Amino acid sequence: MTDAPRLIDPYARAITYLRVSVTDRCDFRCRYCMSENMTFLPKKELLSLEELDRLCSAFVSQGVEKLRITGGEPLVRRGIMGFFNAMSRHLESGALRELTLTTNGSQLSKYAADLYAAGMRRVNISLDTLDEAKFAHITRWGRLAQVLEGIDAAQNAGLRVKINVVAVKDTNEDELEKIVNWCAERDMDLTFIEVMPMGDMGDLDRTDQYWALEDLRDRLAESFTLTDLPDNTGGPARYVRLEETGQKVGFITPLSHNFCESCNRVRLTCTGQLYQCLGQEDEADLRKVLRDNPDDDTPLIAAIHSAIARKPKGHDFDYSRQETSGAMARHMSHTGG
Ligand code: SAM
Ligand code: SF4
Repeated sequence: MTDAPRLIDPYARAITYLRVSVTDRCDFRCRYCMSENMTFLPKKELLSLEELDRLCSAFVSQGVEKLRITGGEPLVRRGIMGFFNAMSRHLESGALRELTLTTNGSQLSKYAADLYAAGMRRVNISLDTLDEAKFAHITRWGRLAQVLEGIDAAQNAGLRVKINVVAVKDTNEDELEKIVNWCAERDMDLTFIEVMPMGDMGDLDRTDQYWALEDLRDRLAESFTLTDLPDNTGGPARYVRLEETGQKVGFITPLSHNFCESCNRVRLTCTGQLYQCLGQEDEADLRKVLRDNPDDDTPLIAAIHSAIARKPKGHDFDYSRQETSGAMARHMSHTGG
């Protein structure tokens, strides 16, 4: 045991993992994530890069060992490499064990080598299809070739890549095997994600996009031999090994399974709101505490502890009655996926 500061919630879970959204903006408009004409936040609402540094450093000082940077698209934020370079000091000191990123891959050709140099070793890249036309349809503004180049750049730079695939009914159902084999050939891990009811998607009915991962798993079992692996990530993913390829494949099923008992994470929005749970509305306004106390981190650290002391036991998503009860009004791009 050490007596270093730790963040322990009311259910005795140690909070060691912080996901941080650094921008709500994005160069794509994925259909399950954003509407085409999104209104983004005014710049003054966003945490500055210096404020992000202060906040993340405060969490690290209180026992957070893993930082995942997300968005929006984190790599479209101007000056973001400066933030990654600054965070590398926590890796060097040993306080932070991992600095990582979830990205759509569009800017990786430009940044992969710099990210590796800043101490990053793994990235999650979101890619739902290997078909150019479908990719253009899903992302509205994205180009598949650019993302594939980004993936090459990441691997060439020495970054370990995990591909995140959102399972969307009638869209990538027929590509399962192709995606699995493509990831195996390139030695990339793979995780499937169920569509979650986040944000107001206008005319889109979310239950139309919903493809239960249980069904996806059954489909996978028709082509591969699946062996369950023990889960020790504290997250919502369940893992299997595909015996034919040796690959580890994850399933994130936040809606159909309860993963909350082992939750070790909290989320910080790009405006400095701390959400203790992805599926609940309670939050703490850390930006106010930060801006009210520019030269003293003591109130900030107290606010972080008081927010963790209110972390709820779990979430209330429920698709079981074919309606999105427990759906959240806020967007994934704001909270960070
Ligand atoms: N722009 C980056 C990206 O796409 O990886 C990071 C942010 S994005 C919000 C993070 C993850 O959330 C992506 O893997 C994306 O596919 C996923 N996502 C977005 N909206 C979702 C939804 N409604 N349900 C499930 N996953 C979603
Ligand atoms: Fe952008 Fe990622 Fe949302 Fe797609 S999922 S619109 S890439 S933030």
